[in-house]
Amino acid sequence: MTALRHVADGLACGDLLHLGREESVAVYLVETTDGVAVVDPGPSTCRDALRLALRDFGAAPDDLRHVLLTHIHLDHAGVTGTLAREFPSLRVHVHARGAPHLVDPSRLLESARRIYGHDMERLWGAFEAVEPGQLVVLQGSEQLSIGDRSLRVAYTPGHAWHHVSYLDESTGMAFVGDVAGEGSQHGTPALPVAPPPDIDLEAWKPSLDRIAAWGPEALLVTHFGPVRHVVAHLDTMWDRLISWSLAVRASLASGDDDESRADSFAEAEFARIASSLTVEQAAHVDRDAIRSSWFGLARYWRKKAVA
Ligand SMILES: [Zn+2]
Repeated sequence: MTALRHVADGLACGDLLHLGREESVAVYLVETTDGVAVVDPGPSTCRDALRLALRDFGAAPDDLRHVLLTHIHLDHAGVTGTLAREFPSLRVHVHARGAPHLVDPSRLLESARRIYGHDMERLWGAFEAVEPGQLVVLQGSEQLSIGDRSLRVAYTPGHAWHHVSYLDESTGMAFVGDVAGEGSQHGTPALPVAPPPDIDLEAWKPSLDRIAAWGPEALLVTHFGPVRHVVAHLDTMWDRLISWSLAVRASLASGDDDESRADSFAEAEFARIASSLTVEQAAHVDRDAIRSSWFGLARYWRKKAVA
């Protein structure tokens, strides 16, 4: 079984098989005349899978020259510091709001520990710091040239404050991390990814509009794989995000505690989504991710109430 699939000219999607799960976390590999660029290299627990993906892509280990981060959540960026240490000439592209947390990950890890507790090591593994000299700090409207590849950068907050997206101009592929939600290869619908702590609905919609304005051939989402029906996906994801956010706001008025509110929300949404799917398709819907979106959206509403 190969965990690597062709997406476009010189561009492939690797399955990092996170915790042994198929089609959970994707990595994108891009061939350039200046070595290989990896978009969101994944967590440290998938270091071996990343190595295999690079090998299957035909790359020697030190062909890895560029890491392009959409954002620094552990499932996307956890192994970055390790790679930067192993390959001192590696350049790491990241938004200005994320860069300080790569140089000093202590606050990022502290906030992740609040969510994952003792499970941190098993899920994500080490998160090493990156030397400032290896960073390419982005604002979000750059035009990047990496070898013969030309990539446009857009600032795309909403899911995370420091989220950017990249458009590969030669193939029309858009690397959109988590801002376009989850997509699947099995005909399941577009699902938002809205975990704590940065969810911002006002910032989110303009980000989707920026991506749509590129007119991309496909959205390369991290969870999981290329999505070719771009406009329908973005519309469905946004509509569902709004309906989730209203359901979460309504649930805050119930007498339950947060854990039970999140459980009821995940249960109800999963049932609603699954009702229009086959059993095989429903198996690809991640109930835990829906549950964690309850917490992200609840935090969004509570912050708003205080402001
Ligand atoms: Zn994320």
